Amino acid sequence: MRCRKCKGKAVLDVPRHHTAFCKACLTEFVCAQVERAISEERMFTKADRVLVAVSGGKDSLSLLDILGKLGYQADAFYVDLGIGEYSRQSKAKVERYTSARGISLHVHELKEDEGAGINDLADLVHRPTCSVCGTLKRYHFNRTAVEKGYSVLATGHNLDDEAARLLGNVLHWQTEYLEKQGPTLPDSVEGFAKKVKPLYRLAEREIAAYAVVNKIDYIVEECPNAQGAKMLLYKDILNRLESESPGTKQAFYWGFLTRQKTDEQARPSMAEHDRAVLRPCVTCGQPTTSEICSYCKLMARAQKNGPTPVGS
Ligand code: SF4
Ligand code: ZN
Repeated sequence: MRCRKCKGKAVLDVPRHHTAFCKACLTEFVCAQVERAISEERMFTKADRVLVAVSGGKDSLSLLDILGKLGYQADAFYVDLGIGEYSRQSKAKVERYTSARGISLHVHELKEDEGAGINDLADLVHRPTCSVCGTLKRYHFNRTAVEKGYSVLATGHNLDDEAARLLGNVLHWQTEYLEKQGPTLPDSVEGFAKKVKPLYRLAEREIAAYAVVNKIDYIVEECPNAQGAKMLLYKDILNRLESESPGTKQAFYWGFLTRQKTDEQARPSMAEHDRAVLRPCVTCGQPTTSEICSYCKLMARAQKNGPTPVGS
């Protein structure tokens, strides 16, 4: 297999674009796709300070790497979920990557600040672990970005993640989630950082190849709590469709984004809608649609059910 651009030895075929790339051309392709995502979706500029939420996995560390290559000001934020060996290893990967490149790293420790790791917290509040994890991460991502003066919070969600999420939302007709699904969520009110997903144009295997070619040392294991998650099933189904008919994932997700944009012209923007309904949480001051934000409700419940000190 030869690289379609330079005719060198190809390391990855990209059937959805009818092409294949060598190491150098793959890196160039990946960086160009991210640059295009940033400019087309007006995510941020070189003047913005961007906080990248990193897990130690290939997507978030590659995103940090690509933004550095492209000359953006990007720092890292890691939430230590306290999941035994998995958290120890993923944190070590993040620390090694950032310290080797002189990137600032902010860390939030659940065990220290919330008084327990994610599994114990989920038990205390009798809710599925990943749902509690989602609430905590969203809260700390936003809070840390705003408090530390970053205008944008970037996550490593890729095309596979977004297509799988879209499939889940469509299968259950979760229209309120469909409205909010997109590569850019604006900073609608004071106290809310803009949220962006600069990898949404790239498939998981393309990013994995980028990470290997660029010698990024990431944690290969998935979070142990991900086993059996619906998202993995949706990804698997989409991968099967993709191998039969390359380009399916991209047509599904990008087609949704195009329709969403047309639709948005006919109704108030999400930023306007949010401005009308969001107010500061009476407990912590973070923006919320009800009197108390979901993070504070969750922590109050955890405290009621066990001896967990509430951090905030
Ligand atoms: Fe959190 Fe669940 Fe993802 Fe693990 S799999 S990081 S617990 S959301
Ligand atoms: Zn709150």
